[in-house]
Amino acid sequence: MNKAVLLDRDGVINRERGDYTYRPEDFEVLPDVLPALRVLKEMGYILIIVSNQSGIAKGIFSVADVEKLHTKLVADLKEEGIYIKEIYYCPHHPEIGSCICRKPDSLLVEKALARFNIDPAKSYFIGDKERDVLAGKKAGVKGILIESNYSLLQAIEPIIKAL
Ligand SMILES: [Mg+2]
Ligand SMILES: [Zn+2]
Repeated sequence: MNKAVLLDRDGVINRERGDYTYRPEDFEVLPDVLPALRVLKEMGYILIIVSNQSGIAKGIFSVADVEKLHTKLVADLKEEGIYIKEIYYCPHHPEIGSCICRKPDSLLVEKALARFNIDPAKSYFIGDKERDVLAGKKAGVKGILIESNYSLLQAIEPIIKAL
């Protein structure tokens, strides 16, 4: 079985601005993300992003906006030799309709585990909200809760030390 590090997007990969991020010019990859993802890749972890994007349900931005951002992110990281296996996102919002994919629910995490044959016990979820680590925990994945925009290099220290 594979091992994976699942990551929240906003506040972990790109700067949390305190507002919806859907314009390419607002999508700023945080400084330590590249080296941290490189370390994880070299340790043999599959990298997957799991994000809540309720702005879609609210009509603030579209699926196409999100896909465009994600396509660019995946391509930019690929140029650096870093492969994001998949970016899962929940487009719903509880005020507009219930779903079982929005974190803290774990459907998207479970989808990732099944699709890529990932052992949850060997895997981590890094997020800047309690709901991120809860989504992981429900699926048996260890959580690392960080502050928004925290150094990802420092965030992965427990993973490196666990070896
Ligand atoms: Mg976040
Ligand atoms: Zn959903």
